[in-house]
Amino acid sequence: MSAEESASERKEILEKIAQAKNKLGKDVIILAHFYQEDDIVGGADVVGDSLQLARQAAKQKDVPYIVFCGVSFMAEMARIICSPGQEVLHPEPDARCPLADMAGIEQAEAAWVDLKESDKKIIPVAYVNSNTDLKALCGRNDGTVCTSANARQVFEYAFSKGDAVFFFPDENLGRNTAHALGIADHEMFLWDPAAGIKNTSKDRVKKAKVFVWKGYCYVHTKFLPSDVLKVRNETQGINVIVHPECTPEVVALSDSAGSTSIIKHTVETSEPGSSWAIGTEWNFVYRIKVHNPDKFIVPLKRSVCSDMTKIQPRHLLQVLEGLKEGKLHGRVSVAEEIIEDARTALKRMLEIT
Ligand code: SF4
Repeated sequence: MSAEESASERKEILEKIAQAKNKLGKDVIILAHFYQEDDIVGGADVVGDSLQLARQAAKQKDVPYIVFCGVSFMAEMARIICSPGQEVLHPEPDARCPLADMAGIEQAEAAWVDLKESDKKIIPVAYVNSNTDLKALCGRNDGTVCTSANARQVFEYAFSKGDAVFFFPDENLGRNTAHALGIADHEMFLWDPAAGIKNTSKDRVKKAKVFVWKGYCYVHTKFLPSDVLKVRNETQGINVIVHPECTPEVVALSDSAGSTSIIKHTVETSEPGSSWAIGTEWNFVYRIKVHNPDKFIVPLKRSVCSDMTKIQPRHLLQVLEGLKEGKLHGRVSVAEEIIEDARTALKRMLEIT
């Protein structure tokens, strides 16, 4: 709740959202990412991780308006997948993902030019948490996209098509996925966009199976090895499950790692009475805790994505009220020159997984 909004004002906004949704009926669907706050999740028709929401967006062929409550690359992804006659609306365009913004297209193009000089076939793979122009780069260079839910399958696909993977922009997901495939750190090359490969031994480039971009998520790198040790010390026998955007050190100390949908499923289907420490975004962990009162659940640490939570109910209401009057607030558009290539990359991912 924002400082300038009282509890009764918030309640009134939520009621108005429900009324507007009712009035708009089947003309609108609201998709919300797991990391959104409860008041947004409560007004959504579908809640999920980025892969689940991408699939939902692709399915909604008869719905003219898709309202996407997540960060901007997710809303753009829905725009790419939906048909031209549909509109995608993002309630707060300022809600962006800092991880996605760690790889700019000029840097990625420069890296690709350098890597193409190598004598092996390298497949570019963009994490879904990337801006659309990077997905387009993958689409026009035989590459694809992955989410944290399908990264392993996508890497396997990439290795079936080439000798190495160029993965951006999350170093930790790249390393954790490579480790799961038995690839050691000495077979990885950390791509620092500021340095490139100009000053690096060509031998290291030759040996690398995975090139990982030097980017990170501030929400997931907040979890430290000491947090895992502390929670294990505090609760005997506790299971620790973390998101693969956490560092490899944290993943190695945990019992398992997986995307938000995997974390949710794992905890929900675990034995009553079991205990869990969860290392991912706090709003999501809190909701799992509330919905599973038969288990002992704690966050590994309180870590909030303050970018996801920029979307507030008043922004959602503005979009819905606008639709009632025929206005498109937060209309998402993607430049014509990149949309087809980005769609190619995304469709490849949806076919692979
Ligand atoms: S949790 Fe991390 S990766 Fe996800 S939107 Fe927030 S900053 Fe980006």
